[in-house]
Amino acid sequence: MKKLFYINYPQEHIEGHLHRYRCSHCKEETTIINGRLEGHLPLCTYRKKLENDGYEEDGVESTKNLASHDADDFD
Ligand SMILES: [Zn+2]
Repeated sequence: MKKLFYINYPQEHIEGHLHRYRCSHCKEETTIINGRLEGHLPLCTYRKKLENDGYEEDGVESTKNLASHDADDFD
């Protein structure tokens, strides 16, 4: 179980598929991303932004607390 879901990324409709959407940055499907930052491609602008904001980084105090608390959730 995850504490956070990263679903506020820009999405776009996949042409020709009625109910399928993808990240407008890395074009990965939402069903593959599944709310996980790791679901985005490594070069995804959205993923890189969150990583730059401190996700999974030890340098940011608040994130460090979250990461240690929910260490089991990152696999
Ligand atoms: Zn993405």
